[in-house]
Amino acid sequence: MGIIENYLKVRASIPDHVKLIVVTKFKPVEAISLLYDTVSHRDFGENRAQEFNSKMRALPSDIHWHFIGHLQTNKVKMVIPGASLIQSVDSMRLLQEINKAAMGAAVTAKVLLQFYIAEEETKFGFSYDEACQLLDNLQSEPMPNIAIVGVMGMASFTEDHQQVSKEFKGLRQVFEKLKTGYFAQSQEFKEVSMGMSGDYRIAMDEGSTMVRIGSLILGER
Ligand SMILES: *Cc1c(COP(=O)(O)O)cnc(C)c1O
Repeated sequence: MGIIENYLKVRASIPDHVKLIVVTKFKPVEAISLLYDTVSHRDFGENRAQEFNSKMRALPSDIHWHFIGHLQTNKVKMVIPGASLIQSVDSMRLLQEINKAAMGAAVTAKVLLQFYIAEEETKFGFSYDEACQLLDNLQSEPMPNIAIVGVMGMASFTEDHQQVSKEFKGLRQVFEKLKTGYFAQSQEFKEVSMGMSGDYRIAMDEGSTMVRIGSLILGER
């Protein structure tokens, strides 16, 4: 099946209140252009700063670019000001660098805090306690050019539906607790980015507001 057929099939399985981010890492700009032109898709995700930056330069400026990978502090300038959402903030230092770059570019950087919810050791992200520590720090030392608009996480890569479901449920609970504890006054803290090609239906069942789908639409990498 072609990319457009895949896209339409996936699109039809996602309700309107869940945003679809098409993950285009390692895929050519032509694949993005095709979705942009044919079905007017506008939200795309990339996980490497260099690739993010070069695709952004090559493609129309009304695309909403989501940065979804581990971001090194020395590469922040490649994604600011172009990113409409940095989904993968996994340390205080990174947040500070993003704030600095956003200040320099006179923009407010929208970000999600990434949480470590999987059993695997390789995934980046905060624990709930670490995030609380960061948010406590922010109350005494605000970062004026940052807007934290939600959370992101990746479940374990496993066939165990129960396990994946439990991890996504946990992330949704983290979101609810942070919302009550730190963002009660914030209208914009509302995103729970969870779900990929293999597990997005489970994620939606557990309260995802944003799914990040690559291979199911564009084929294996
Ligand atoms: C690659 C990637 C995705 C998409 O993965 P697929 O399994 O191809 O849908 C989603 N989120 C992140 C953070 C990724 O790196």
